[in-house]
Amino acid sequence: MTTIARNFQDVHARIVTACRAAGRDAADVALLAVSKTFGPGAVRAAFEAGQRAFGENYIQEGVEKIAALADLRADLCWHCIGPIQSNKTRLVAERFDWAHTLDRLKTAERLSAQRPPELAPLNVCIQVNIDGGPAKSGVAPDQALALARAVAALPRLRLRGLMTIPEPAADFEAARAVHARAKVLFAQLNAAGLGLDTLSMGMSADLEAAVAAGSTLVRIGSALFGARAPKAT
Ligand SMILES: *Cc1c(COP(=O)(O)O)cnc(C)c1O
Repeated sequence: MTTIARNFQDVHARIVTACRAAGRDAADVALLAVSKTFGPGAVRAAFEAGQRAFGENYIQEGVEKIAALADLRADLCWHCIGPIQSNKTRLVAERFDWAHTLDRLKTAERLSAQRPPELAPLNVCIQVNIDGGPAKSGVAPDQALALARAVAALPRLRLRGLMTIPEPAADFEAARAVHARAKVLFAQLNAAGLGLDTLSMGMSADLEAAVAAGSTLVRIGSALFGARAPKAT
């Protein structure tokens, strides 16, 4: 078995264990494999281990990887999980299946306008700055409902849920408490009729805390592919 295949087994086991501890069904937590900085060969190895959904942060890198793996395109689901500058919306609209980081209506409007008519609507999540962290990405929690309503009205987007990237927490309980705030917001938006099905939260270090709080999609990179080299600048 390859290292990547074994890592997938380990991460699936972590999800199952975390779901059991939370009294949840493991089928309700999807695994997004974050392949940023790793080449097409790593994605292909993950595909052979059964993985179908991949996340990319850097749009140009993602687009090149999607092209290099064109033979698998029909079987793969590509998620953009990095910031989307205005000059990159067209690439996201044309090449990806999902975008997780919407925090401005203008970006959403561009994505909707640029989504090719022959493709299904682009699945999107609104990024929420749930802990007021200094990263500055993400809408403030009290702005999420208004943005969600506006995004849900765009014709070529399908609003699926919320996404968060909290600051690293001191321990499990602190991480769970922050993720629980996102779960409350998610429930409030659904109570307002938005019909969301995706709560994108949890990474290699806080998978268990995110699942305990109600994550439906964990974004896992280093636990699957190994440590990343620092990004060249
Ligand atoms: C890199 C990244 C991940 C994966 O992080 P790991 O700690 O390697 O699991 C998840 N989400 C986002 C938005 C990322 O940038």
